[in-house]
Amino acid sequence: MSAPTETTYLVWYCKRPRCGKACKIQPPGIEPECRCENPVPGLRPTRVTQMHAEKPRPLQALSDEEGRLRALARNNKRVLVTYEAQIAEAWTSTGRDGLKHVQFIVTTPDGRRHAIDPALPGLHIEAAPAATEESPR
Ligand SMILES: [Zn+2]
Repeated sequence: MSAPTETTYLVWYCKRPRCGKACKIQPPGIEPECRCENPVPGLRPTRVTQMHAEKPRPLQALSDEEGRLRALARNNKRVLVTYEAQIAEAWTSTGRDGLKHVQFIVTTPDGRRHAIDPALPGLHIEAAPAATEESPR
């Protein structure tokens, strides 16, 4: 686990009436709040120290599955991405080619819904093997 780090910024506040927001920040890293077209930065910057609480990173024992996936990523392998889902909704809509194409909303076993456009290049949809449909959840 790493200790929290802090960064000190120099902040110039805008002198325009009814603004007074930060308009210049050094070093870059925070978005200035001032939205004036011509900000008038004050002469002297204010020192602002920001703490960055680092998220404790849990020690991760690499599972076989995670190792396998990382090996794929390292080697830039060609991969086949598949997942099983239940078709929740289907309809047709007119595509750019002027023809009607079927669209799907599917539900994955975790209950999440995903919009699927079968016209996406390389996407292939097929019926899941019957055995998995009948398996108890
Ligand atoms: Zn301003």
